[in-house]
Amino acid sequence: MNSDLVIGVDLGGTNVKTGLVSNEGKILYQNKFPSNASGSRWEVIKQIELSARDAMEHAGGAEIRGVGVGSPGMVDDHGVVKGPPNFTDFDGIPLQAELERVFSLPVRVENDANAAAIAESRFGAGKPFPDFLFVIWGTGVGGGIIFHGRIFRGPTGGAGEIGHICIDYNGPPCNCGSRGCVEAYVGQRYLSQRAMAKLANHPDSKLLELVGGNLENIEPVYIAQAARAGDAFARDILIEAGTLLGVALGAVMNTMDLRVSIIGGGISASGEFVMDAIKKSVQEHVLKPSRPDIRVLPAKLGNNAGILGAAGLVL
Ligand SMILES: [Zn+2]
Repeated sequence: MNSDLVIGVDLGGTNVKTGLVSNEGKILYQNKFPSNASGSRWEVIKQIELSARDAMEHAGGAEIRGVGVGSPGMVDDHGVVKGPPNFTDFDGIPLQAELERVFSLPVRVENDANAAAIAESRFGAGKPFPDFLFVIWGTGVGGGIIFHGRIFRGPTGGAGEIGHICIDYNGPPCNCGSRGCVEAYVGQRYLSQRAMAKLANHPDSKLLELVGGNLENIEPVYIAQAARAGDAFARDILIEAGTLLGVALGAVMNTMDLRVSIIGGGISASGEFVMDAIKKSVQEHVLKPSRPDIRVLPAKLGNNAGILGAAGLVL
């Protein structure tokens, strides 16, 4: 009987996904419940409990060592969740203490991007590297720094927020209240807006066909689809976005003396040319001595990173 089983909970704005995970990082069972993010804090905690208890029932009577949770928002050293976007009543919630009370098991709560970084470090593309920058490029731009084999949290758990590195102080407004953040150029919504604005000058782009001629329907998934089909305009949009992202990555890699970036999230999976654009840009923005060693690699765990990273918190 495998005695090293844990529960990994990936709390998102739409769903809470929970897995029963072995110590080798194998997901033995997983489920998905609505997270009720627009409900009260107690409703959200109830959904986490339901989802975790369901996973526990699949342990075949084996002992569960603990429960790890990846949560949106900033998470402090005591597992208090602060300001998670898309949740109505979940600011300042002592989630770790609440869940320890509910389960009578060790519980660890960590920011979701940090949890995904831990997952790549323990079970994914980051395994060979004790130090790397992890980036999730999707709706927003999130990140986590693995330093000497551990997550670098900073004094209050807020480290790794690479999406809000400013790449132009006169740039467009970002939803964080600042200007010119890299997220305000390459985050899903902003990227679509930029494509929309430019598409008027490229009436023969396949992208226009993919969105049924309606510019309002542009989403990165269509830009990626058009790019994969060889559309030059769509490729240029993504290459430019990769180049801009590389500027921010270069800043972190210089500051932390890192050589490796691992990129996850939907947009990064658009094709090798995007990874190449990021890498080229990083190389141009780090100091010369580190340029030959720069590596920009795709994440390996995809949608399972959330569950595996949460599990990794208690393994
Ligand atoms: Zn910002």
